[in-house]
Amino acid sequence: MAESHTLRRERLRPAVAAVGADAALITTLVNVRYLTGLASSNAALLLPVEGPAVLATDSRYALAAERDCPDVQLLVARPVETALAELAVSQGLGRLAFEAQEMTVERHTALAATGGLALLLPLGRRVEDLRVVKDAGELALLGRACSITGWAFDNVVPHIRAGMTERELAVLIERTMVDAGAERPAFDTIVASGPNGAIPHHSPGDRPFEPGDMITIDCGARYDGYHADMTRTVVLGEPAGWQREIYDLVATAQWAGIQAAGDGAAVADVDAAARDLVDAAGYGEYFGHGLGHGVGLEIHEAPMVGYARPGRLADRVPITVEPGIYLPGKGGVRIEDTLVVRSGTGSAAARDLLTTTGTVTPGELLVLGPRA
Ligand code: ZN
Ligand code: ZN
Repeated sequence: MAESHTLRRERLRPAVAAVGADAALITTLVNVRYLTGLASSNAALLLPVEGPAVLATDSRYALAAERDCPDVQLLVARPVETALAELAVSQGLGRLAFEAQEMTVERHTALAATGGLALLLPLGRRVEDLRVVKDAGELALLGRACSITGWAFDNVVPHIRAGMTERELAVLIERTMVDAGAERPAFDTIVASGPNGAIPHHSPGDRPFEPGDMITIDCGARYDGYHADMTRTVVLGEPAGWQREIYDLVATAQWAGIQAAGDGAAVADVDAAARDLVDAAGYGEYFGHGLGHGVGLEIHEAPMVGYARPGRLADRVPITVEPGIYLPGKGGVRIEDTLVVRSGTGSAAARDLLTTTGTVTPGELLVLGPRA
């Protein structure tokens, strides 16, 4: 992996020069990880336009940094940012680019007080931009996270029954993912049953499942830093007409969104491919969120796939496609998959679907027996 980290830093250097800086001070932890391989809760990277990169971390991570980041210079210090700023000044790098999206006013004030520092310039989201297109190693880790997720879901579905609570199901899914090799859940698992399904990010509570409930399950495994994201909605007992209607509509919209997610597609058009179907059926006001988002070292990262979002998809960009309909007081449906956009052959758009489940085919509502 060291070689890919070197490559990533080489690709960042021109962006640092372009803002007029001598060096970048990278402080977003996930960006430090992306550029060096070090996963930690306290680290920063000094990347000059020319010359060796210096990674600063404290003694808790020093051994891990020596092991995981053999290709950068290591500075064991605390606080890391001011130590790197002082080092930069001592090397004649007086104009520092920083990550304004992450820097607090308090820390910026401390940085600006570094003696000899000429200028602090916002770098912008240049590292996030680099992270959009994944390399083969990243796609392999993401694929593993997604296959663990699908496997765990399939193994948990037979245990869903009336009387089980949302929290019990959430814990069972998370435990099963970890048993299957996940380092941890990628985010707090959402289990929303009955009327709670109308809340897109419902926090699982002690409500027991009842016959007639739709149950929305949004879960994902994290594997070596990479996040999977998948949602399935099932029903306990024979579905009512309105439940089948909104399920079929969301499933159709999701498939349209997946079909539209090709190399070169504008993200706004991908969103529209799904949203227009929901709008035309009269449910537009009940689909309030964007269609999807990028996934990788963060659960939500660029590109955001929404109706007011700029940008286009490209080869090797993973995104989610997750339309939903949420009816206050009644319930809701969301179906979500993680896929990787691939360059098509000829004019045909192509993609790899990473989250697959054997028990639930998104196109068909899974009806579970309402047994207690
Ligand atoms: Zn999700
Ligand atoms: Zn998602």
